[in-house]
Amino acid sequence: MKKKIIILGSTGSIGQSTLKVIKKDIKNFDVILLTANSNYRKLIHQAKEFNAKNVIIYNKKFYDIVKKSLKKRTTKVFSGNLSLTKIVKQKVDYTMSAIVGLAGLQPTVDAVKISKTVALANKETIICGWHILSKLKKKYKTEILPVDSEHFSIMELAKNSSDHEIEEIIITASGGPFLNTPKNKFKNIKPSQATKHPKWNMGKKISVDSANLMNKVFEVIEACKIFNFDEKKYRIVIHPQSYVHSIIRFKNGLIKMILYNPDMKIPISNTLYGKKNIIPNIKKINIETFNKITFENVNIEKFPSVKIIDKCLNLGHSTPTIVNASNEVLVSLFLKGKIGFLDIVNNINKIFKDKDFNKYAKKKPRSVKDIKITDNWARLKTNDMCAR
Ligand code: NAD
Ligand code: MG
Repeated sequence: MKKKIIILGSTGSIGQSTLKVIKKDIKNFDVILLTANSNYRKLIHQAKEFNAKNVIIYNKKFYDIVKKSLKKRTTKVFSGNLSLTKIVKQKVDYTMSAIVGLAGLQPTVDAVKISKTVALANKETIICGWHILSKLKKKYKTEILPVDSEHFSIMELAKNSSDHEIEEIIITASGGPFLNTPKNKFKNIKPSQATKHPKWNMGKKISVDSANLMNKVFEVIEACKIFNFDEKKYRIVIHPQSYVHSIIRFKNGLIKMILYNPDMKIPISNTLYGKKNIIPNIKKINIETFNKITFENVNIEKFPSVKIIDKCLNLGHSTPTIVNASNEVLVSLFLKGKIGFLDIVNNINKIFKDKDFNKYAKKKPRSVKDIKITDNWARLKTNDMCAR
């Protein structure tokens, strides 16, 4: 039987890597749905190449062109914010959730209802909406697997272990493009520099998050949400070679780590195939390079963003949603050249002091709508702060 697959955000970095993985084994897959925001050219190309049953181009401006280009095909074309459950009437085997930002929340919620397995790359959705996803996961008996390399590694390392056996969980960070840049140069960092990651080839937003280490803030929160381990056990360590993605120190004296090349096709294909996975054409790590593996502590002077982790964990249930929304707005303004690199973290820190912060931060959202209310408030506030 062919595996029925959905890829949310198929035109992005994770989406394309997922398609590369299934391309090698395409006779065993049935592509039920591909989605994109506005990259219609790539979506049309993918729909044809993978013979997709359905596509969604979220940006309505491009609906006509996608529809016209696929008119000789059996692919159905949709646009706008409609529920996946209206398009896909059957249970699918696997969904890759790889939209960037909170825009991925509702489609992921829908995907949990109609998929046997959801591979979850979209970290903003985990940070803001994990409690909703985990309730649905139980109700619909859906397996949710983390794709983010650190979380995929923690899942593998901690299999069959409980919190009382674990002393600490280390999430590694490459340190991004500015690990060795002096602090006085940070002010003038340009978007083109911040999006050039030394180890990973990723979308622009996560590349900027990696450059100022906000990505690690999100990853610690992400881990706290996904796994039931004590929040105080997490630590970030810089590991510029990016072979080790997470490390667990057990109380029995053992330390476990998983090494693999910084290539997202590895976690992706493992969530698709599990243990039966045999990845062809993957660059092998040369064991001799292990003597060049280094670890160092985070320089907090240079990367003050990491202090936001404690705020996210201690200032109320919706603080991660506020930080995420504010960050999404600020990264987008930075990429447009409207604010400087340092303004991203500086402005996130300003929102904690807003008179309405507590009111929103303390809210316990029960639905996607509740999350969106807080998200909206933080976006407006952040835009306001930057317009002043
Ligand atoms: P990307 O920018 O390359 O791709 C994003 C995808 O989302 C595109 O297909 C785009 O069309 C779609 N999209 C964007 N805005 C949308 C909207 N408003 N509505 C619907 N669709 C929209 O991003 P990426 O690097 O592939 O990352 C995707 C997610 O995976 C992010 O949450 C990121 O943090 C996470 N992640 C990525 C990597 C990586 O190596 N790229 C690693 C770990 C986690
Ligand atoms: Mg990661």
